[in-house]
Amino acid sequence: MIPSVRGTRDIIPGEVERWQRLEDIAREVCRQYGYQEIRTPVLEREELFAKGTGESTDIVRKEMYTFTDKGGERVTMRPEATPSMVRAFVQHSLEQSMATAKLYSLGPMFRYERPQKGRYRQFHQLDVEAFGVATPSLDAEIVEMAVAFVRALGIRDAKLLINSVGCPECRPAFSRALLEALGDRIHELCADCQRRAQTNPLRIFDCKVPADQSTIDTLPHSEDYLCTDCREHFEAVTGMLQAYRLDYRVSHRLVRGLDYYTRTTFEILSQGIGAQSAVLGGGRYDNLVKELGGPDRAGIGFAAGLERLVLAMPAGEAETNSVDAFVVAVGDEARIPTHVLARDLRHAGLSVLIDYEARSLRSQMKRADRAHVAHVLIVGDDEIERNEVTVKNMATGEQSTVSMDAIAERLCSPGEPIDS
Ligand code: AMP
Repeated sequence: MIPSVRGTRDIIPGEVERWQRLEDIAREVCRQYGYQEIRTPVLEREELFAKGTGESTDIVRKEMYTFTDKGGERVTMRPEATPSMVRAFVQHSLEQSMATAKLYSLGPMFRYERPQKGRYRQFHQLDVEAFGVATPSLDAEIVEMAVAFVRALGIRDAKLLINSVGCPECRPAFSRALLEALGDRIHELCADCQRRAQTNPLRIFDCKVPADQSTIDTLPHSEDYLCTDCREHFEAVTGMLQAYRLDYRVSHRLVRGLDYYTRTTFEILSQGIGAQSAVLGGGRYDNLVKELGGPDRAGIGFAAGLERLVLAMPAGEAETNSVDAFVVAVGDEARIPTHVLARDLRHAGLSVLIDYEARSLRSQMKRADRAHVAHVLIVGDDEIERNEVTVKNMATGEQSTVSMDAIAERLCSPGEPIDS
């Protein structure tokens, strides 16, 4: 057996039903908030992420699946969706064709990380992005939407964190304040933090090394260094969250690991799923569209990790695929008519299983039982002669006969029990 690649997973029947429920809810919530689906390629040019996600990020420095293809082009399997969404927004001039450029996408992402529970090398995200609106009402709406989505999945222990990382006007002063506050203590921090101090001091807040935490806890807060515009924006966002009656906590350590964020950042955590508790994260990126060669348009969005949401979701009621009927042939004469019957029932919209190997009646009944079908339809010589089907209701065990011509309609009307 050749096993699957480390850090990748199969989503098998029995599990996939929960994914389908999650995806249905994701699509429905996106529809309610006016987002339209977009599907972008997994493969993009390497430079899209180098420029978009940012050269100094862990993703670009250490985690990308990048290779040279047979034509000599450097391509990357997308590690996140935002740069692709921005590229598509610009490439197709979507602001001209869409009333409001609100987009969502569902699909796999690839990062070469150390696999553990809730962290994989191929994982899936719901990505939601909106372009062209810089006002705080959209920040609040998208945060509220993220919370509504998590609630719609039945997740009750979610915590919302929010912060503002400022803008290119006020961030330099905050970065300087961080370095000043650290002073010589910078040499006591881990090697990653020392590098962060050089490239992007805000990123020091991402550090997870236990020994560094007591120092990091003493550092200044971005909230105290916002310029007037950023402060007013942040106050307006939190004011609207209060109007929505959302529970949130301002977390000054929430800087998020990407270069492009401006102003609002937010994250949703779910306690019950282990160390990797962030189920969703996002923020505003008002300069990214321009930096990637597009018009000067604001942007804001979030990405939700589907593996972690699936872990956090409570089990649903009927999470097995329901099969309407299993058609059983008794004797060789019945073989072809049962296949025709199965075809007709499927064309009528029913989900139908059938045996292909002329097994005994007993073993076919066993299979039907294992498949959790609602009805078994038995066809033997007698039934063929009378143009009938014997129907066994698997819930009640009762049997009855129904005319071959009426069976599709009877099975399609769930209100009428077949054994009546
Ligand atoms: P990010 O793009 O890193 O902000 O991630 C957004 C969300 O995607 C996180 O909150 C996680 O739920 C999920 N996520 C990120 N990386 C992984 C991973 N390696 N495996 C599984 N889920 C992930």
